[in-house]
Amino acid sequence: MTEKGFNKITFDTPIQYIKGVGPARAETLAKLEVKTTADLLEYYPRDWFFAPEPVKIENLKPDHTVTLIGFVESTDWQAWRKPPYFEAYINDDTGVCRLIWFNGRYLKDKITPGMKIAVWGKTALYKHQIQIANPKFEILQEDENIADNLSGPVYPATANLSSPQIRKIIHGCLDDLVELMPEFYDSAFLKKANLIERKNAFTWIHNPMDETQIAKAKRRLKYDELFLMQTALAIRKYKVVHYEKAEALVCTEQIDSRIRKRFPFLLTEDQDKVIEEIKADLAKEIPMNRLLQGDVGSGKTVVALYAALVAIANKKQVVIMAPTEILAAQHFTNIERYLKDSNVNRVLITGGLTGDKRKEILKDIKSGQTNIVVGTVALLQEDIQFADLALVIIDEQHKFGVHQRAGLRKETTPHCLVMTATPIPRTLAMTVFGDLDISIIRHSPPGRGDVVTRYIHPDDLPKAYEFIRERLKAKKQAFFVYPRIVDSDNGDTKAAIAEYENLRKKIFPEFNIGLLHGQMNGSDKQRIMEDFRKGKIHCLVSTVLIEVGIDIPNATIMVIEEADMFGLAQLHQLRGRIARSSSKSYCLLVAQTENETANSRLEIMERSNDGFEIAEHDLKLRGPGELLSSRQHGLPDMKIANIIDDMDLLNMARKDAFELVEKDPMLTSANHKNIRAELVRKFSDSLNLIDVA
Ligand code: ADP
Ligand code: MG
Repeated sequence: MTEKGFNKITFDTPIQYIKGVGPARAETLAKLEVKTTADLLEYYPRDWFFAPEPVKIENLKPDHTVTLIGFVESTDWQAWRKPPYFEAYINDDTGVCRLIWFNGRYLKDKITPGMKIAVWGKTALYKHQIQIANPKFEILQEDENIADNLSGPVYPATANLSSPQIRKIIHGCLDDLVELMPEFYDSAFLKKANLIERKNAFTWIHNPMDETQIAKAKRRLKYDELFLMQTALAIRKYKVVHYEKAEALVCTEQIDSRIRKRFPFLLTEDQDKVIEEIKADLAKEIPMNRLLQGDVGSGKTVVALYAALVAIANKKQVVIMAPTEILAAQHFTNIERYLKDSNVNRVLITGGLTGDKRKEILKDIKSGQTNIVVGTVALLQEDIQFADLALVIIDEQHKFGVHQRAGLRKETTPHCLVMTATPIPRTLAMTVFGDLDISIIRHSPPGRGDVVTRYIHPDDLPKAYEFIRERLKAKKQAFFVYPRIVDSDNGDTKAAIAEYENLRKKIFPEFNIGLLHGQMNGSDKQRIMEDFRKGKIHCLVSTVLIEVGIDIPNATIMVIEEADMFGLAQLHQLRGRIARSSSKSYCLLVAQTENETANSRLEIMERSNDGFEIAEHDLKLRGPGELLSSRQHGLPDMKIANIIDDMDLLNMARKDAFELVEKDPMLTSANHKNIRAELVRKFSDSLNLIDVA
């Protein structure tokens, strides 16, 4: 039942009319991404408690999980202990029990003498006294005698809306809403897949009797979430394959051998393999949507250029997009190297390009004179018109913004090749890039020197400097990387500008030190890079800026300070910068941290040079986090499933989803109408699925 005369809740009922909500709470809920009644049902608990019946303190024995109800006698915040803790003594007329919460500073104002409190936790003997460490607790009213909220679901809460309040709202409308939830699958499938009914799943997730119900509910809801996402991806892919048309670009043997002559080396086995995959795609009238993965320096650019030359041999135009101007310029320089004396017309579009010069260049692109256009994603999505664009190559480096590939569409859809140097674990690839085909270059071209990686403490820096000095004297070059440009307020992290001064004046006064960071203007950056490339600068101090594709084989040393502040993928990328020469390179990761995860991450870097292995570790240690956020794949965030823990379900859901779309691409059959309606509800914004009809 709702207030204000709505006597039946539907999915259209404005959330503020749900009992216990109102305008103010509706606003709070909106901030929690709960905007509709369906969202409310999908606002899943983050945990569930099943507290036992309360017992008396006089009966306590060690090593039992118990619930107690009593009054707080005294509290204390023991700030100087290691670790600091908050303690409280509670009395229930049969005895006194000590409660202790480590690092419980936040409890100072929450638990105060005189309060009635219910606690739940495990008893232990400490100095002949029974105590409970880190109990869960609930503040009670004078007259309350049950720890109501210690049992049941716990919801992610905010300052304005507590978990019990959210629970009350959801429980108030749960039965009505659950009734509205349609089933997606027939009972035979549910049985075969070992899934419970959808209605039960929603009831049990919010109001379970026991752990078994929770487990069953979770399994069903996770499956649905993954299945719907995979179905959306399957449809997106189906649409590209069946509704979009591309130019077929054929590669004859003649073209192939002409292209290969451009490279001063034989292509590696992996390069040949992915080129075959790409050629097969290009030869079809279906737009290619392929992701090319490979470590920095594995030879992706060469593969991309191969594809570009196939398109050009077919008299079409090609665009190469990079995330930054530096990278775009670098691609251009690379391409120049291979295309010297060829009659391929290529142009680099930069931000500095203006006026008549720009007009002329755009004119040549429009007339079809120009074959290859290189630039940043931003620049190339402006007003540029092509005569016959047939291939878009996007170098994402470590970024995942693939949905940008939707740009540059004309009557025919260009083939699209996205390159990424971030090795993406298979599970992630299946979600983030679930509608793309994937090619992988696993092994880099031969003749690469090893990179030796060492994780060192800042105290060892003086020794490291001496080691580096020797290398610099031998005409090698070095990178110094810092997480920040300038110091943070408390001054406890090293920053590029300050360290630049330090290295220049105190550590290596006899060498030329350069500084490069994101706040410098484009031409200054180019100049510094050029000086470093030419060897005029011996050490380049930088922020992560150099992560983006700088190719200087003579730079064989890299020092990354505050290394624990970087992500593993990022560190691996950075390190890739010095893997380009045939001589041995050295990467020093400098950090001082007690954090176990941070330590094991840096140790992985010491141990492994395999980007995929590192990525798998990172995924396990840190979770998918950023990589899976909706900004990356354009789909709504997952609410209950987790691709690491639920990999089996993901595999199953993916298979089922793609089979379904194969059989009934537009989900028009009556059996699938509920799935279809849910897809439209969930994904219409992000996938244009409405026009599936
Ligand atoms: P990525 O784009 O994956 O970082 P690149 O295509 O830029 O890699 O190649 C990195 C370096 O390796 C370049 O200097 C390139 O000339 C060289 N290279 C690429 N393929 C081969 C190969 N098959 N054999 C030898 N060197 C290669
Ligand atoms: Mg490259």
